[in-house]
Amino acid sequence: MKVIDTTLGVDLSDPKSIESYWNDELIKALYFGPKKVSANTRDAALTSPAFAQSLARLQTLAASHSLVSCCSELMDGFVRDTGHSLGNGTLYLVLGCATTTIYTVEVEGSSVSVLCVESLGGSTQTLELYLAHEFTHFARKDLLDKDIFESCIGERLVTEGIADSYSADVVPGQTTATYCIVDESTVSWVKTHYDELETRIRTTLETTELMETLFYMFARIDFPVRTSYVFGYLAVRRYLQDQGLQTKDILGIDWRHVLCVSRGRGR
Ligand SMILES: [Zn+2]
Repeated sequence: MKVIDTTLGVDLSDPKSIESYWNDELIKALYFGPKKVSANTRDAALTSPAFAQSLARLQTLAASHSLVSCCSELMDGFVRDTGHSLGNGTLYLVLGCATTTIYTVEVEGSSVSVLCVESLGGSTQTLELYLAHEFTHFARKDLLDKDIFESCIGERLVTEGIADSYSADVVPGQTTATYCIVDESTVSWVKTHYDELETRIRTTLETTELMETLFYMFARIDFPVRTSYVFGYLAVRRYLQDQGLQTKDILGIDWRHVLCVSRGRGR
Protein backbone atom coordinates (compact mmCIF):
# COMPACT_ATOMS: atom_id res chain seq x y z
CA MET A 1 0.00 0.00 0.00
CA LYS A 2 1.26 3.41 -0.92
CA VAL A 3 1.00 6.13 1.75
CA ILE A 4 1.20 9.73 0.56
CA ASP A 5 1.50 12.58 3.06
CA THR A 6 0.08 15.68 1.37
CA THR A 7 0.82 17.85 4.41
CA LEU A 8 4.61 17.82 4.10
CA GLY A 9 5.86 21.38 3.82
CA VAL A 10 2.71 22.92 5.31
CA ASP A 11 3.48 25.20 8.26
CA LEU A 12 0.75 24.19 10.70
CA SER A 13 1.30 27.29 12.82
CA ASP A 14 0.69 29.61 9.86
CA PRO A 15 -2.95 30.04 8.71
CA LYS A 16 -1.73 31.44 5.37
CA SER A 17 0.27 28.31 4.70
CA ILE A 18 -2.76 26.16 5.55
CA GLU A 19 -5.03 28.28 3.37
CA SER A 20 -2.81 27.91 0.33
CA TYR A 21 -2.55 24.14 0.98
CA TRP A 22 -6.36 23.98 1.03
CA ASN A 23 -6.49 25.71 -2.35
CA ASP A 24 -4.52 22.90 -3.95
CA GLU A 25 -6.56 20.99 -6.55
CA LEU A 26 -5.56 17.61 -5.08
CA ILE A 27 -6.87 18.56 -1.62
CA LYS A 28 -10.10 19.80 -3.18
CA ALA A 29 -10.49 16.49 -5.03
CA LEU A 30 -9.67 14.37 -1.98
CA TYR A 31 -11.47 16.30 0.72
CA PHE A 32 -13.36 19.53 0.04
CA GLY A 33 -15.28 18.19 -2.95
CA PRO A 34 -16.32 14.72 -1.76
CA LYS A 35 -16.91 15.81 1.84
CA LYS A 36 -18.83 18.92 0.74
CA VAL A 37 -16.89 21.22 3.07
CA SER A 38 -18.06 24.81 2.70
CA ALA A 39 -15.99 27.99 2.61
CA ASN A 40 -17.55 28.94 5.95
CA THR A 41 -16.33 25.76 7.61
CA ARG A 42 -12.87 26.43 6.18
CA ASP A 43 -12.75 29.98 7.47
CA ALA A 44 -14.15 29.01 10.85
CA ALA A 45 -11.46 26.34 11.27
CA LEU A 46 -8.67 28.83 10.68
CA THR A 47 -9.79 31.00 13.59
CA SER A 48 -11.01 28.25 15.91
CA PRO A 49 -9.00 27.72 19.13
CA ALA A 50 -10.06 24.05 19.20
CA PHE A 51 -8.71 23.55 15.68
CA ALA A 52 -5.45 25.32 16.61
CA GLN A 53 -5.17 22.95 19.56
CA SER A 54 -5.62 19.87 17.37
CA LEU A 55 -2.91 21.22 15.05
CA ALA A 56 -0.56 21.70 18.00
CA ARG A 57 -1.14 18.07 19.00
CA LEU A 58 -0.54 17.01 15.43
CA GLN A 59 2.75 18.93 15.33
CA THR A 60 3.91 17.17 18.49
CA LEU A 61 2.99 13.79 16.99
CA ALA A 62 4.68 14.54 13.66
CA ALA A 63 7.84 15.71 15.45
CA SER A 64 8.29 12.33 17.11
CA HIS A 65 6.91 10.00 14.42
CA SER A 66 7.00 9.74 10.66
CA LEU A 67 3.30 9.38 9.91
CA VAL A 68 4.01 7.66 6.61
CA SER A 69 6.19 4.99 8.25
CA CYS A 70 3.70 4.59 11.11
CA CYS A 71 0.87 3.98 8.65
CA SER A 72 2.92 1.51 6.59
CA GLU A 73 4.06 -0.40 9.67
CA LEU A 74 0.53 -0.60 11.08
CA MET A 75 -0.90 -1.80 7.77
CA ASP A 76 1.88 -4.42 7.53
CA GLY A 77 0.90 -5.57 11.02
CA PHE A 78 -2.74 -6.03 9.95
CA VAL A 79 -1.60 -8.01 6.92
CA ARG A 80 0.41 -10.34 9.18
CA ASP A 81 -2.46 -10.62 11.65
CA THR A 82 -5.17 -11.44 9.12
CA GLY A 83 -3.15 -13.19 6.43
CA HIS A 84 -4.85 -10.93 3.93
CA SER A 85 -2.48 -9.04 1.65
CA LEU A 86 -3.14 -5.48 0.53
CA GLY A 87 -3.26 -4.79 -3.16
CA ASN A 88 -2.24 -1.56 -4.79
CA GLY A 89 -4.27 0.70 -2.53
CA THR A 90 -3.31 4.28 -1.80
CA LEU A 91 -3.77 6.11 1.49
CA TYR A 92 -3.59 9.91 1.43
CA LEU A 93 -2.83 11.81 4.61
CA VAL A 94 -4.68 15.09 4.36
CA LEU A 95 -5.18 18.08 6.66
CA GLY A 96 -8.92 18.71 6.82
CA CYS A 97 -11.12 21.08 8.85
CA ALA A 98 -12.03 18.61 11.61
CA THR A 99 -15.22 17.47 9.88
CA THR A 100 -14.39 13.78 9.48
CA THR A 101 -11.77 11.10 10.16
CA ILE A 102 -11.02 8.43 7.54
CA TYR A 103 -12.96 7.48 4.43
CA THR A 104 -12.78 6.04 0.94
CA VAL A 105 -13.29 8.19 -2.12
CA GLU A 106 -13.19 7.83 -5.89
CA VAL A 107 -10.53 9.98 -7.54
CA GLU A 108 -10.04 9.78 -11.30
CA GLY A 109 -11.75 6.40 -11.47
CA SER A 110 -9.86 4.68 -8.69
CA SER A 111 -10.83 4.25 -5.11
CA VAL A 112 -8.41 5.68 -2.51
CA SER A 113 -8.42 6.13 1.26
CA VAL A 114 -8.09 9.48 2.92
CA LEU A 115 -7.08 10.03 6.53
CA CYS A 116 -7.64 13.49 8.00
CA VAL A 117 -4.61 13.91 10.24
CA GLU A 118 -6.09 16.66 12.44
CA SER A 119 -8.62 14.06 13.66
CA LEU A 120 -5.92 11.95 15.31
CA GLY A 121 -5.75 14.16 18.40
CA GLY A 122 -2.00 13.59 18.33
CA SER A 123 -2.47 9.92 19.23
CA THR A 124 -0.83 6.94 17.56
CA GLN A 125 -3.47 4.73 19.18
CA THR A 126 -6.19 6.64 17.35
CA LEU A 127 -4.17 6.22 14.17
CA GLU A 128 -4.10 2.46 14.75
CA LEU A 129 -7.83 2.38 15.42
CA TYR A 130 -8.69 4.31 12.23
CA LEU A 131 -6.31 2.32 10.04
CA ALA A 132 -7.61 -1.01 11.34
CA HIS A 133 -11.09 0.14 10.34
CA GLU A 134 -9.95 1.11 6.85
CA PHE A 135 -7.83 -2.01 6.40
CA THR A 136 -10.93 -4.20 6.64
CA HIS A 137 -12.58 -2.19 3.87
CA PHE A 138 -9.64 -2.91 1.56
CA ALA A 139 -9.69 -6.58 2.47
CA ARG A 140 -13.47 -6.91 2.14
CA LYS A 141 -13.62 -5.11 -1.17
CA ASP A 142 -10.88 -7.37 -2.45
CA LEU A 143 -12.54 -10.57 -1.19
CA LEU A 144 -16.04 -9.72 -2.42
CA ASP A 145 -15.05 -7.73 -5.51
CA LYS A 146 -18.12 -5.49 -5.33
CA ASP A 147 -19.24 -2.09 -4.05
CA ILE A 148 -19.22 -2.63 -0.29
CA PHE A 149 -20.56 0.84 0.49
CA GLU A 150 -23.40 1.65 -1.84
CA SER A 151 -24.80 -1.72 -2.97
CA CYS A 152 -27.37 -2.01 -0.14
CA ILE A 153 -27.99 -1.19 3.53
CA GLY A 154 -27.35 -4.76 4.71
CA GLU A 155 -23.92 -4.81 3.07
CA ARG A 156 -23.01 -1.40 4.44
CA LEU A 157 -24.08 -2.25 8.00
CA VAL A 158 -21.93 -5.36 8.06
CA THR A 159 -19.02 -3.69 6.24
CA GLU A 160 -18.87 -0.91 8.84
CA GLY A 161 -19.61 -3.29 11.71
CA ILE A 162 -16.66 -5.49 10.72
CA ALA A 163 -14.43 -2.40 10.45
CA ASP A 164 -15.30 -1.12 13.92
CA SER A 165 -15.06 -4.62 15.33
CA TYR A 166 -11.53 -5.07 13.96
CA SER A 167 -10.58 -1.74 15.57
CA ALA A 168 -11.80 -3.24 18.84
CA ASP A 169 -9.67 -6.36 18.29
CA VAL A 170 -6.44 -4.46 17.63
CA VAL A 171 -6.93 -1.69 20.22
CA PRO A 172 -8.80 -3.43 23.05
CA GLY A 173 -10.08 -1.75 26.18
CA GLN A 174 -11.82 1.24 24.58
CA THR A 175 -15.54 1.97 24.51
CA THR A 176 -18.05 1.11 21.77
CA ALA A 177 -18.41 4.86 21.24
CA THR A 178 -14.69 5.15 20.50
CA TYR A 179 -14.72 2.27 18.01
CA CYS A 180 -17.82 3.59 16.23
CA ILE A 181 -16.69 7.26 16.41
CA VAL A 182 -19.94 8.43 18.03
CA ASP A 183 -21.02 9.95 21.36
CA GLU A 184 -21.82 7.72 24.31
CA SER A 185 -25.43 8.91 24.04
CA THR A 186 -25.70 7.41 20.53
CA VAL A 187 -24.51 4.04 21.84
CA SER A 188 -27.09 4.03 24.62
CA TRP A 189 -29.76 5.15 22.17
CA VAL A 190 -29.02 2.22 19.86
CA LYS A 191 -28.90 -0.26 22.75
CA THR A 192 -32.30 0.96 23.95
CA HIS A 193 -33.85 1.08 20.48
CA TYR A 194 -32.11 -1.92 18.90
CA ASP A 195 -35.27 -3.92 18.19
CA GLU A 196 -37.15 -0.86 16.96
CA LEU A 197 -34.32 0.01 14.60
CA GLU A 198 -34.12 -3.57 13.39
CA THR A 199 -37.83 -3.65 12.63
CA ARG A 200 -37.58 -0.33 10.82
CA ILE A 201 -34.79 -1.44 8.51
CA ARG A 202 -35.58 -5.16 8.16
CA THR A 203 -37.49 -4.91 4.89
CA THR A 204 -35.03 -2.44 3.36
CA LEU A 205 -31.76 -4.32 3.92
CA GLU A 206 -31.49 -5.34 0.26
CA THR A 207 -32.06 -1.75 -0.90
CA THR A 208 -30.32 1.62 -0.64
CA GLU A 209 -33.49 3.40 0.48
CA LEU A 210 -32.25 4.40 3.93
CA MET A 211 -28.60 4.91 3.02
CA GLU A 212 -28.54 8.62 3.66
CA THR A 213 -30.68 8.42 6.78
CA LEU A 214 -28.53 5.76 8.35
CA PHE A 215 -25.03 6.67 7.27
CA TYR A 216 -24.80 10.31 6.34
CA MET A 217 -23.17 12.23 9.13
CA PHE A 218 -25.38 15.31 8.87
CA ALA A 219 -28.66 13.63 7.96
CA ARG A 220 -31.75 15.39 9.30
CA ILE A 221 -33.48 12.57 11.07
CA ASP A 222 -35.49 11.84 14.18
CA PHE A 223 -32.76 9.78 15.83
CA PRO A 224 -29.02 10.28 16.47
CA VAL A 225 -26.77 10.32 13.40
CA ARG A 226 -24.43 7.39 12.76
CA THR A 227 -26.68 4.97 14.68
CA SER A 228 -26.04 2.52 11.87
CA TYR A 229 -22.37 2.17 12.81
CA VAL A 230 -23.31 1.16 16.33
CA PHE A 231 -26.04 -1.14 15.08
CA GLY A 232 -23.64 -2.84 12.65
CA TYR A 233 -20.97 -3.12 15.32
CA LEU A 234 -23.32 -4.71 17.86
CA ALA A 235 -24.67 -7.14 15.24
CA VAL A 236 -21.14 -8.20 14.23
CA ARG A 237 -19.91 -8.55 17.83
CA ARG A 238 -22.91 -10.71 18.68
CA TYR A 239 -22.39 -12.87 15.61
CA LEU A 240 -18.71 -13.39 16.51
CA GLN A 241 -19.58 -14.32 20.06
CA ASP A 242 -22.28 -16.77 18.95
CA GLN A 243 -19.99 -18.41 16.41
CA GLY A 244 -16.80 -18.33 18.49
CA LEU A 245 -14.99 -16.38 15.76
CA GLN A 246 -12.73 -13.34 15.52
CA THR A 247 -13.26 -10.39 13.19
CA LYS A 248 -10.36 -11.44 10.98
CA ASP A 249 -12.21 -14.73 10.28
CA ILE A 250 -15.18 -12.94 8.70
CA LEU A 251 -13.63 -10.14 6.64
CA GLY A 252 -15.34 -11.40 3.49
CA ILE A 253 -18.53 -12.86 5.00
CA ASP A 254 -21.90 -12.54 3.23
CA TRP A 255 -23.73 -9.83 5.21
CA ARG A 256 -26.90 -11.94 5.30
CA HIS A 257 -25.27 -14.44 7.68
CA VAL A 258 -24.54 -11.73 10.21
CA LEU A 259 -27.86 -9.90 10.07
CA CYS A 260 -30.04 -13.02 9.84
CA VAL A 261 -28.42 -14.55 12.91
CA SER A 262 -28.89 -11.35 14.87
CA ARG A 263 -32.43 -10.80 13.60
CA GLY A 264 -35.13 -10.84 16.24
CA ARG A 265 -32.72 -11.54 19.07
CA GLY A 266 -33.29 -8.24 20.85
CA ARG A 267 -30.85 -7.02 23.46
ZN1 LIG B 1 -15.84 2.65 7.23
